[in-house]
Amino acid sequence: NEKLLMTPGPTNVPKRVLDSMSQSMMHHRTSEFSCMLSQMSERLKYVFQTSSDVLTFPAAGTGGLEAVIVNLFSPGDRVLLVSIGVFGDRFSKIAQVFGLDVDKLEVPWGMGADPQTIKESLKDSHKAVIVTHNETSTAAANDIKKIAEMLSGEDKLLIVDAVSSLGGLELRMDEWGIDAVVTASQKALMSPPGLAFISLSERAWEKSKESRLPKYYWDFEKARADLNKAKAQNPYTPAVSLIAATNEALAIIQEEGIENAWKRHELMANRIRSGIEKIGLGIFTHRDYLSNTVTAVDVGEKAETVKAMMENEHGIIISGGQGVLKGRIIRIGHMGCIDGEMADRTLKALEDCMNRA
Ligand code: PMP
Repeated sequence: NEKLLMTPGPTNVPKRVLDSMSQSMMHHRTSEFSCMLSQMSERLKYVFQTSSDVLTFPAAGTGGLEAVIVNLFSPGDRVLLVSIGVFGDRFSKIAQVFGLDVDKLEVPWGMGADPQTIKESLKDSHKAVIVTHNETSTAAANDIKKIAEMLSGEDKLLIVDAVSSLGGLELRMDEWGIDAVVTASQKALMSPPGLAFISLSERAWEKSKESRLPKYYWDFEKARADLNKAKAQNPYTPAVSLIAATNEALAIIQEEGIENAWKRHELMANRIRSGIEKIGLGIFTHRDYLSNTVTAVDVGEKAETVKAMMENEHGIIISGGQGVLKGRIIRIGHMGCIDGEMADRTLKALEDCMNRA
C-alpha cells in the first residue's frame, strides 16, 4: 500500500532511483565506484549551476550546515544571519554553538527578507551573510538573486541554505555569485535521505584556509583532494547506495533539463495554490514570498486532524506546522518528482478532509 509523500522531504523517490540501489554492493575503492562518484559530482555541478567541486558527505542537511560553519569560520567571527523561520534559527544556533558572533536579522514568519534591509544591517566586521533560500517551515522563499546583487562588491561571503530549494527553485551559484551552497538528497533531488552536498566558490575556498575551528570528518580540503584524485573517492566509507540513487535521480533531472524542472515546480505550486483557494482556504505565506516547493495552508485548529485523516483515509502524507505554527497550519510539499495528477489527488483529498473534519 503505497503512500504519496506530499511533504517537504523526504519526497517520493522514482522507481528508477529505487532500482538503482538494488544492485550488489560496490566497494568504495574500486574504479567502478570512482566512475559513479565522478559522474554524480559532474551532475551535481549542473544542478548547482557551478563549475566548482560539489562535495558529498553522508549526513542530514543539518550536518551540511554545520560543515560549512566549521570549515569557513573561527571562534569570534562576526556574521549576519538572516532568519525567516525555523531553519534560519537552526543555522543561527549552529553558528553560535561554534562560537561565532551572530547578529540575527529576524523577519516575521511568512515573509522573506528585504535585500535592502540586509544591506543596511551589514557591519564592516561581518565576514558573511548567511541566508535560507527556501524556509521550509513557513513556505517562504528569499530572493537570493537580489540579495546577491545587493552584496556584490562587498567583501562578505554569501552562504545559502538551499536544502529545500535546490533542484526546485532557480538557483545559479556561479552566475549570482554565491560563496557556499548546501543541500541534501531527500527533497527536490528526489533521492532517499542521507546525503549532504556542499559547494564553495573560489573566494570561500580561500577564506577556508583561515578557519581555526576543529574539523576532522567535515574537513572540506581533505574531501576535495580525494574527489580530485585520478580515481575519485571519499576520505571515509561513503554511502555507496545513496550515491547510486542520487546519481540516477540527477540523470533524470538532466534529462528533463534544470530549467524545465524549475518551471514544472512553478506550475505545480500554482496549481496547488489555486486549488487551495478554490477550497476556500487561506495561504499562510505573504504573496510576495511564495515558495514553489512547499505551500503552507491556514487551517486553524483542524490542522492535526486533517493531517491524520489525509494519511489514514487517503494514504497521502502531508506535514503540520513547526515551532509556533504547530497546530495552526498544514504544509504541502510539491518538490521533486511531482506531477499534476499528484497535485490534484492531494487537493481533492484535502477538500474531503476539510469538509468532514
Ligand atoms: N534547512 C532547510 C531549509 C530544511 O528544510 C531542512 C529540512 N527540513 C534542513 C535545513 C535540515 O535538513 P535535515 O532534516 O536533512 O537535517
